[in-house]
Amino acid sequence: MSKKNQPDPATLLARAGGFIDAGSGGVVPPMQPSTTYVRDEAYELMFPNNSYGRDQNDQVRLAESIICQMEDGAESLLFASGMASISTVLGYLKAGQKLLIQNEIYWGTTAWVRRSCEHHGVALIEANSADTETFCAIIAAEKPDLVFIETPSNPWLRTSDIPAISKASHAVGAVFVVDATAATPVLSQPLLLGADIVMHSVTKAINGHSDVIAGVLTCKDANSAIWEHVKTVRHEAGAILSPNSAWLLIRGMRTLPLRIERMCSNAMAIAQHLENHEKIEAVWYPGLSSFEGHELAAQQMNGGFGYLMSFLVHGGKAEALKFCGELKGIHRATSLGGVESLVEHRHTIEGDVTACPENLVRLSVGIESASDLIAELDGALSRI
Ligand code: PLP
Repeated sequence: MSKKNQPDPATLLARAGGFIDAGSGGVVPPMQPSTTYVRDEAYELMFPNNSYGRDQNDQVRLAESIICQMEDGAESLLFASGMASISTVLGYLKAGQKLLIQNEIYWGTTAWVRRSCEHHGVALIEANSADTETFCAIIAAEKPDLVFIETPSNPWLRTSDIPAISKASHAVGAVFVVDATAATPVLSQPLLLGADIVMHSVTKAINGHSDVIAGVLTCKDANSAIWEHVKTVRHEAGAILSPNSAWLLIRGMRTLPLRIERMCSNAMAIAQHLENHEKIEAVWYPGLSSFEGHELAAQQMNGGFGYLMSFLVHGGKAEALKFCGELKGIHRATSLGGVESLVEHRHTIEGDVTACPENLVRLSVGIESASDLIAELDGALSRI
């Protein structure tokens, strides 16, 4: 479980992985948008790694190497969205194989997995991975080929026991994949806890400025069959990140540890405040000692409990929506992990097909002043 010899993320990221532009001496990578690269008179590539933009480009390579070092992984691959990375890794499963996936996670993942498994003849089991004993018993009984969890989960904020699920998965020969978007590699490194592949929606806090859609997969074993599949699909199906987005991502990542520190302290202050508010029924945040999974989160996360929380407003759907509508300052918008705080009424987005409570409000906490955020939340609560 211990960290290998990687530099501290703060140092690694502030220096963009130690990048210096060989052509100019610049400490910022240049933007090279070319889709294609020349060959010499002998028809050899002038730069052996640069052939066609759908394979690779310099900005994507640099961003991947920085993320890979943060994860302490063997190799990272960036994709054009978080969903492109999830659909690539789960697309490894063939007809007749079995997928065990955590229930009540990001609805986009659940919706895609249900459709895709049915289409491709993959057996699908959904279960609560935060109930470690039951989940590991399901793994032992069902012998899935791949196990996929999200921790902390969105929007339920459930924490799952990565080492225990890794052990149970490997005992039946299953590949174990963890979506750690709500933690970021600054707070949690699932590969060191036993995951085979870790996934992030880079769209969220890793980029952090709400201006890039991206996803990343990082593996522990670059020679595994699933990683061969991931590499081949990214290459052949072409779900690579654009050079422009990769350039923005490198810039955004330089401040990731600072942003996470501030977002975590803001989130903790807000969670503690709301927990005692008369108009709030419950606060779901792994940092609260009253919240189920807090002790596990404390073991698995270093330096904070993340920027995402959900809370239940007393009353029902009408009160939750009125609260959102009364907010002045905090934006009502989907997504998470940006420098600006965002609220979302998840039931409106997910509909009646999920168990998401009608009075649930999800809050992605940004880097604004904690007292301003608390005042805005209190103001809206006072008007419902
Ligand atoms: N995983 C989680 C936990 C998410 O919250 C999201 C999006 O909200 C995704 C994956 C999908 O990522 P993207 O929107 O970058 O495709």
